[in-house]
Amino acid sequence: MTNIAFIGLGNMGGPMAGNLVKAGHSVQAFDLVQASKDAAAEMGVGIAGSAKAAVAGAEVVVTMLPAGKHVLSVWADILPAVKPGTLLIDSSTIDVDSARKAHALAAEHGCPSLDAPVSGGTGGAKAATLTFMVGGADAAFARGEPVLAKMGRKIVHCGGAGNGQAAKICNNMILGISMIGVSEAFVLAEKLGLAHQALFDVASTSSGQCWSLTTYCPVPGPVPTSPANNDYKPGFASALMLKDLKLSQEAAQAAGASTPLGAAAAQLFALHNAWGEGDMDFSGIIHLLRGRRDA
Ligand code: NAD
Repeated sequence: MTNIAFIGLGNMGGPMAGNLVKAGHSVQAFDLVQASKDAAAEMGVGIAGSAKAAVAGAEVVVTMLPAGKHVLSVWADILPAVKPGTLLIDSSTIDVDSARKAHALAAEHGCPSLDAPVSGGTGGAKAATLTFMVGGADAAFARGEPVLAKMGRKIVHCGGAGNGQAAKICNNMILGISMIGVSEAFVLAEKLGLAHQALFDVASTSSGQCWSLTTYCPVPGPVPTSPANNDYKPGFASALMLKDLKLSQEAAQAAGASTPLGAAAAQLFALHNAWGEGDMDFSGIIHLLRGRRDA
């Protein structure tokens, strides 16, 4: 059993903290929202009066927060209260620069740290089947891996500080671009009188094959479990895809990488969000490409 502090009990953090309790760990947690604390308490998570109180006595601290500014401010707040040597793990999706600043902050306090963003969504958080992409030193990874394994199925060490976040935004840039490509193909097929199922049957076994087509098909029918069959309820919300694409573009600018399709995808998802579908699954981008919401 490990004493774990968990800060951020939202849609992802709540069930992740619950899975650590299920695995036999002692978890003390904190969130700003009462309803999130109540839901976590029902799963056996101990609720502390503040983030600082939650980390007192912790051997491992996990944060699951909205963005880089929240992570930096929570880490700056708790680090004076953690024992030196405590392992800090941030699983939020944040910009690479903030992730590296967080690692430096932890090191100043004598604490090892990992950036460990996830993919797999709220379903993966509940079922403990998340994929973790991890950046940090080998020794920190060796300590963190058994804890992450109680919340996920696949744990990949991507290299040094910030490389977990780098892997996450590179992957999601591929995903955003590929979903637009698949959606454009279906819209063109409609105009050409080609049935959705016929295009699917060909492309899913040809060189157009990809996850956005075969697992997350943006039209109802061919893949019964895709959000298109459930009124485009997320799934993975378009607002979160936009967040990740913006992070990819910030990183590309800072690093001097040329990502013209990533930039176009960020613009299209910004338009999709502005169009009022930010809360819908990101595969709903097909509506924007069609110019209509009704089909
Ligand atoms: P969420 O908004 O549901 O949860 C974030 C939680 O952090 C909230 O409960 C909020 O009250 C809490 N919080 C904010 N500031 C705090 C502070 N100072 N102290 C304590 N608690 C604080 O978000 P989520 O869906 O759980 O996502 C968390 C992170 O995981 C984000 O970075 C997101 O991009 C990433 N992510 C989400 C998904 C998904 O499908 N939801 C998938 C992969 C990654």
